[in-house]
Amino acid sequence: MLSVCEHCDAVYLKTALRRAERAYCVRCGSELYAERAGQYEALLPIVLAAFIVFLISNAFPIVTMEIQGQSTQTTVWQSVVVLANEGMLPVAALVFATTIFFPAAEMLLLLYVLVPLALGRVAPGFGLVLRAVRIGRPWGMIEVFLLGIIAALVKLSTLADLVPGMALWSFGILTVLLALVLRVDPKGLWDQAERCER
Ligand SMILES: [Zn+2]
Repeated sequence: MLSVCEHCDAVYLKTALRRAERAYCVRCGSELYAERAGQYEALLPIVLAAFIVFLISNAFPIVTMEIQGQSTQTTVWQSVVVLANEGMLPVAALVFATTIFFPAAEMLLLLYVLVPLALGRVAPGFGLVLRAVRIGRPWGMIEVFLLGIIAALVKLSTLADLVPGMALWSFGILTVLLALVLRVDPKGLWDQAERCER
């Protein structure tokens, strides 16, 4: 394969780089291409952490409400069930899809690819799974859910005593972790997969 310098148009024959190596143009010194396989390594710990935080977010209540001495707690799943029972099925489905299903699917699919890769193997259906992650990504909208919850809580706070639950904090952390996952260049995964198959 050939590589052309973007700055001075010098043409080079591409050679395989070792991890974290970069190729520079001899004539003008600008970077030609880089080995990105190393970048993917940050991804596995972030996705694992995100998945654990996701489980916590769903296991613990988002908020505890006290109205006239009675206290009630709500988890995400309970709020989905309540919405469905109140006849708001489309809203319930939307909350379930954007807050539970798509984020969980993204993390599980990434783990399916990342864990074997860390062991030097390429999972069956590697390319297909990465494509599915990319297609499903816009549907995971935890931050929208989080903003909705905060807006609702601010309104409710005049009617009831509210204590933010563990899940409210962990959803905030999850939003940050998922944003970090988005920042990693998926090309690094492809580079690493090629290296494993060689
Ligand atoms: Zn050059």
